Amino acid sequence: MISSDAIGLYIHVPFCRRRCHFCAFYLEIAQPDRMARFQSALLREIALHGRQEFLNGRSLHSIYVGGGTPTSLPTEYLTTLLDVIRTTWSTSPTTEITVEAHPSSVTFDDLTALVKAGFNRISFGAESMKDQDFLSIGRFGRVRDTATAVHESRRAGFTNINLDLMYGLPGQCLQDWIDTLESLVILEPTHISCYALTVEDDTRLAQDIARKVVLPPDDGLQIEMEAAAEHVLAEAGFTRYEISNYAKPEYACRHNLLYWTDGEYLGLGPSAQSYLAGTRFGKIADLESYMNALDNRLLPITDHTILSTTEQQRDALVFGLRLLRGVPRLISRAAERDRQVSELLMKGLLDSDHDRLWLTPLGRQFADTVAETLF
Ligand code: SF4
Repeated sequence: MISSDAIGLYIHVPFCRRRCHFCAFYLEIAQPDRMARFQSALLREIALHGRQEFLNGRSLHSIYVGGGTPTSLPTEYLTTLLDVIRTTWSTSPTTEITVEAHPSSVTFDDLTALVKAGFNRISFGAESMKDQDFLSIGRFGRVRDTATAVHESRRAGFTNINLDLMYGLPGQCLQDWIDTLESLVILEPTHISCYALTVEDDTRLAQDIARKVVLPPDDGLQIEMEAAAEHVLAEAGFTRYEISNYAKPEYACRHNLLYWTDGEYLGLGPSAQSYLAGTRFGKIADLESYMNALDNRLLPITDHTILSTTEQQRDALVFGLRLLRGVPRLISRAAERDRQVSELLMKGLLDSDHDRLWLTPLGRQFADTVAETLF
């Protein structure tokens, strides 16, 4: 039985086979020697946190191995990692244990080993079902690998399968996006995440746009694509429960819900973020420094911010508004954000009743503006 003070555990695996043009995550191109050293450092990081008194007795509500591409690592690294985590903290049969995977980087044997080790949810970066989109974003693999990976995952024993998609890709039209959604719905995943392409600094995409090789994302088209996703996925039995996330009944991502419901989590790996006991802290976003610190048996923590009660409530308000059900109105009072909330209500970005506050469809399109106003 998981206790009410259970936490989430996030592990950032900073390796990919190739960097996609839009991606700004902290990662390196996968090399066997770097991955072996990273694995040793990660196991040491777990051991050091395992000895911390404030984490004693905390059980795990969810474990999420993300990245990067965790399946860049040899599968035995991932199974060992899960074994070590489970001997350090307690889990229960309801603990959601997710691994992210690239559809072109896993075999049936890998998937079977992951299920046997205890992973019970898999999240594939599908992105698109059009080969030309893979070319335009510099992604390796072929779109048909996604269908194979989903079928093989199910055959290996995964019953909870997520597909991550992106829309507004260079050259992608509305019909391409609808075709992608319809092709993926047929695969019967339990969860789909749809992210609008954004242009991050220092990415190949940003450079290509600056050189006018590629057009920037079209906001109007992305709004139409968002509406199309909501329509196609609703028809297929998915409920939109967060700005970018859709799930079949009972399959909302438990780990990500922690982020939006003021839950606590511990992050491991370079650049991973944590929120525990009202304190936010991050791990060094540099693999070499991260590994060096752990070689010296030091936790690679870079920043450490203790939030006041009002700041904790502000964060609960800002993150909670990402959920379609919104947040209790009491939170905005506790966060001392009544003035900002009134302004957002007047602008039609928020709506409310006596008890709750939520983003309007317009507010969902301008969620970043809402968050900035509330911070
Ligand atoms: S596979 Fe994912 S994490 Fe890796 S570069 Fe592409 S978008 Fe980034």
